[in-house]
Amino acid sequence: MTRFKLPLLIITIFSFFVLISCQDNTENSLVFDAMDTSMVIRSFGKNSAEANRLAQKRILELENLISVTKDTSEVWKINNAGSYAQPVSEDTATLLSLSLKVAEESGGALNPCLYPVIREWGFTTGDYKVPSASKIAELLSKTDYSKIILKKNENFSEVFMQPEMMIDFGAVGKGYAGDCAIAVLKEQGIKSAILDLGGNVQTLGPKTDGSLWTIGIKSPWNGTPVAGVKVKDKAVITSGGYERFFVDSETQHKYIHIFDGKTGRPVENDVASVTIIAESGLYADSLSTTLVVLGKDGAIKFWDAHKDFDFIMILDDKTLMYTAPLKDYLIIDYDFEKVIVVS
Ligand code: AMP
Ligand code: MG
Repeated sequence: MTRFKLPLLIITIFSFFVLISCQDNTENSLVFDAMDTSMVIRSFGKNSAEANRLAQKRILELENLISVTKDTSEVWKINNAGSYAQPVSEDTATLLSLSLKVAEESGGALNPCLYPVIREWGFTTGDYKVPSASKIAELLSKTDYSKIILKKNENFSEVFMQPEMMIDFGAVGKGYAGDCAIAVLKEQGIKSAILDLGGNVQTLGPKTDGSLWTIGIKSPWNGTPVAGVKVKDKAVITSGGYERFFVDSETQHKYIHIFDGKTGRPVENDVASVTIIAESGLYADSLSTTLVVLGKDGAIKFWDAHKDFDFIMILDDKTLMYTAPLKDYLIIDYDFEKVIVVS
């Protein structure tokens, strides 16, 4: 090294450390209720308190837009528009367009218009019951998602539906809310944040020290962590029957909140939980529900055809199944009966 280069190197290293030490990593957390769950936004940076507040505002606005039960929401308006065309916001158009795409690709495992059936079983109203076969058949006739037309015009989008059809973003709303909140945090200059939106975890950047976040995967049996996955800039979103269900008092049969659109009944398979890891929260949330419906073999086939996400599936018989690209990022903390790597 020449005499001239050494001081230059020292100055560069010194400036680097000054820069690092000047970074403001003030941490702020905001806890609130939205979309029927408890949410936490934790971000780091000079502006983190204000950024969190604006992200929360965006989530609450979204909740008011897409709630299927509030009679002031846009979704409520669409669901009660009969066969008239309804102009819709960009948010609704984005949610519907992705939902219809995944519905198509999954052969209807995801179906954004199952609400008439789901409501009849008592999910969202709390009045749980097993409807008669004829009632289920009658309501199923209103759930053909191929009859929904989303027309994108130059300045706005509009939706056409058959009368009595209803859309519901219960399977995708929280994931999309996470994406929107992260977009707000980014606009506010935040480089590192972690959001827990009722068990859906979404991360912005790495931790402030540059290392990856470790996101715990819960046991579907007792809620304790059974695994951890290391990520940055990713959504880690889980679905499973353990999250919401009711037990028929006469038969003691358990009915979960995720439905098979072909039968109009809650899914009954050996999947205990599915965790999706993907860049987009909306995509990850849509797939967590989809893969529960598809089951073990369907999930493998779907992943093979797409490979633009990863998944971790826990089966009732204590099998853990995960996609090969997760290999170096997964920490297993439980004595599973069997571990299958899908490649
Ligand atoms: P998640 O917790 O993301 O799996 O979403 C579950 C919610 O999505 C349920 O509470 C229902 O509102 C809705 N849902 C249930 N089954 C389906 C399905 N097959 N397709 C679309 N949405 C569904
Ligand atoms: Mg979902």
